[in-house]
Amino acid sequence: MLAEIKGLNEECGVFGVWGHPDSAQLTYYGLHSLQHRGQEGTGIVVSDGNKLRVVKGEGLVSEIFTSNVMEELKGTSAVGHVRYATAGGGGYENVQPLLFHSQTGSLALAHNGNLVNANYLKHQLETQGSIFQTSSDTEVLAHLIRRSGFSQIKDQVKNALSMLKGAYAYLILTENELMVALDPHGLRPLSLGCLGDAYVVASETCAFDVIGAEYIRDIRPGELLIINKDGITSEQFAFNSTKSICTMEYVYFSRPDSNIQGINVHTARKNMGKRLAIEAPIEADVVTGVPDSSISAAIGYAEAAGIPYEMGLVKNKYVGRTFIQPTQSLREQGVKMKLSAVRGVVEGKRVVMVDDSIVRGTTSRRIVSLLKEAGATEVHVVISSPPIKNPCFYGIDTSSKEELIASDKSVEEIRQLIGADSLTFISTEGMLGAIVKTEGTNGFCLGCFNGDYPTEIYPDTLQYYYQK
Ligand code: SF4
Repeated sequence: MLAEIKGLNEECGVFGVWGHPDSAQLTYYGLHSLQHRGQEGTGIVVSDGNKLRVVKGEGLVSEIFTSNVMEELKGTSAVGHVRYATAGGGGYENVQPLLFHSQTGSLALAHNGNLVNANYLKHQLETQGSIFQTSSDTEVLAHLIRRSGFSQIKDQVKNALSMLKGAYAYLILTENELMVALDPHGLRPLSLGCLGDAYVVASETCAFDVIGAEYIRDIRPGELLIINKDGITSEQFAFNSTKSICTMEYVYFSRPDSNIQGINVHTARKNMGKRLAIEAPIEADVVTGVPDSSISAAIGYAEAAGIPYEMGLVKNKYVGRTFIQPTQSLREQGVKMKLSAVRGVVEGKRVVMVDDSIVRGTTSRRIVSLLKEAGATEVHVVISSPPIKNPCFYGIDTSSKEELIASDKSVEEIRQLIGADSLTFISTEGMLGAIVKTEGTNGFCLGCFNGDYPTEIYPDTLQYYYQK
């Protein structure tokens, strides 16, 4: 589905390199392949072993890093970030990586995820004299590191990480070390790879493919990796780690060519479509998917149901970000500009329309209407995730609880509101079985579906998400 008009947005991607003379260029390509995770701002910090240098700005990777800018970024290690501006708001000051200088050296931070105790920690830090230069929760970590009282940077970082709650995949670059940390629940994906003797780290493995790097393994929940001239070392900073990776990474956010925990995202989505064909058998003439993220599931549904897959909807790739507006009326206009139904495919046909999720419902209603206006006689909507009833506190902008159509409406009520002839959501077991091919819900976050969050949620965070 189209993130900008759907109301379901990823909030960041990170990429890092250690030990390569073209670290900034590799980071550019890595970030470019992670652009789907955030389009509002981007930055790269590079280290030449003596000092850190940052270039960042609001815009796309290709807009910020012109060839002149890239010429200035020289060094053998780098960290980069792409940002979707929600947590802490937009603005240049919140574009990452954040770079801090002190008498003992410099520190760059790139963060994917969202802390649920950021406000609590900020309040504590401010009463102790800290002054924050951004409204982003990422900066909290820098203050905790500098205030930790330990002499070694590794111990400072471990101590600071132990105070954080929520979702975080952090890249921390100093003049002579790259540190990589994942929260104790492993909520966001983060993988390690290599390119010759150099190490690379990325939110998604698609970033490795683009630079020709080899995948080594995923970062473990509660793990701190330290990469420096002596090689790579791994330590646990949290020992009660239980994996709860975000299920929506498989359903919707990650690129189909990425592998998360060794599972290919396209294959998982295709399996969800196959499972839907069993859970929602429909007599129809064609199956179509809402581009781009629902196409894999639609192919799976068509294959399992024995109904032809057709391109019943096409996406206009050349609509600029200028048209992405957060108001309801403009969002609906955005659907018209970004999607068209193919009359020659759907006219006179009973159509199964596969989508990955329903957030507010307005986009689904508009797409059903597009298909009917183009002559579809029936539109049956099948969804490859369960109903989203609760907000996400971990870095996905899912709208407030009040805006989520499934928070207080039954499937039948949603069907009527979107104007579909039938509506089926995949079961939770079906979705997880499609990902891992085994029974059980262990290892996944399902908070936005069932309200069972892997961490405690602080009252001020709850208040923000229920009122925003
Ligand atoms: S609440 Fe939903 S979107 Fe958020 S991390 Fe959990 S599964 Fe992902």
